[in-house]
Amino acid sequence: MNIIVLMKQVPEIEKVRFDPEKGRLDRSSAGATTNPFDLNALEAAVSMGPMKAEEMLRDAIARGADRAILLSDEMFAGADTLATAYTLSAAIKKIGSFDLVICGEKTVDGDTAQVGPEVAEFLNIPHVAFVEEILQVDSCSITVKARMERSSYIIRLSLPALITVTKDVNNPRLPTLRDKLRAMRTPITIWGYKDLAEVADPRYFGFEGSPTRVVKVYTPTAERRRGQMISGQPEEIAQKIVQVLLENKVL
Ligand SMILES: Cc1cc2nc3c(=O)[nH]c(=O)nc-3n(C[C@H](O)[C@H](O)[C@H](O)COP(=O)(O)OP(=O)(O)OC[C@H]3O[C@@H](n4cnc5c(N)ncnc54)[C@H](O)[C@@H]3O)c2cc1C
Repeated sequence: MNIIVLMKQVPEIEKVRFDPEKGRLDRSSAGATTNPFDLNALEAAVSMGPMKAEEMLRDAIARGADRAILLSDEMFAGADTLATAYTLSAAIKKIGSFDLVICGEKTVDGDTAQVGPEVAEFLNIPHVAFVEEILQVDSCSITVKARMERSSYIIRLSLPALITVTKDVNNPRLPTLRDKLRAMRTPITIWGYKDLAEVADPRYFGFEGSPTRVVKVYTPTAERRRGQMISGQPEEIAQKIVQVLLENKVL
């Protein structure tokens, strides 16, 4: 079975700072690591990101992937989730034959959980999000248990299909020294926008292909609760309370 896993490198979330002027994460303010949910997804890895994501893909090979592809090009920069999904789906089309695409349920930086389902739509294949258990796989279908808000459901999909997985699906394996050495020797394929020319329209890549515009990003100020002492006779106090509630449009 050919399995493609989509993996994203994310900043170390407890260290990363926010750039309020550009309205983006300042990714240079922290180190980079593999999105933890993507380790649960791993078999063969495809990533879209800057060249430093090569490190993450080498780790993916050490953890068992046979092949790794990095999509890196100035043309891909500034992509929202739609343009990201378009680019990743173009790479999957170029790879050609596959049975299953696996994504993490979400990333710890963007946190939208949109990319997986959008990739499935671009590939015109069935998908299920938030899979917590893979129950059965045969040559033409996969049966999974997926999480809903307060319950779970079991569903069978015909292959090829896409699933996004939660951390409950497995325990990511740790690479051995031999795996790490193999990973160092394995070449990583790098594709730019020209490599995807036969399967995609470059107008839908990167910032140009992104319909989302971030209008303003700011940290909300936390307002402390204010107290007020009201004194007097009980009837007087009740009247004052009603007045305060009316002034604050509670009544
Ligand atoms: C206007 C705009 C401009 C942006 N510009 C930039 C920018 O310049 N640089 C930047 O880094 N981000 C940028 N972003 C953020 C970027 O769009 C998201 O990081 C990206 O689309 C993934 O979304 P997410 O993190 O919410 O992924 P989710 O949908 O939460 O991820 C789910 C799963 O999809 C897969 N996945 C997601 N992203 C990738 C990827 N890149 N490669 C492989 N697999 C992936 C993984 O399996 C992941 O677990 C921008 C966003 C907007 C709205």
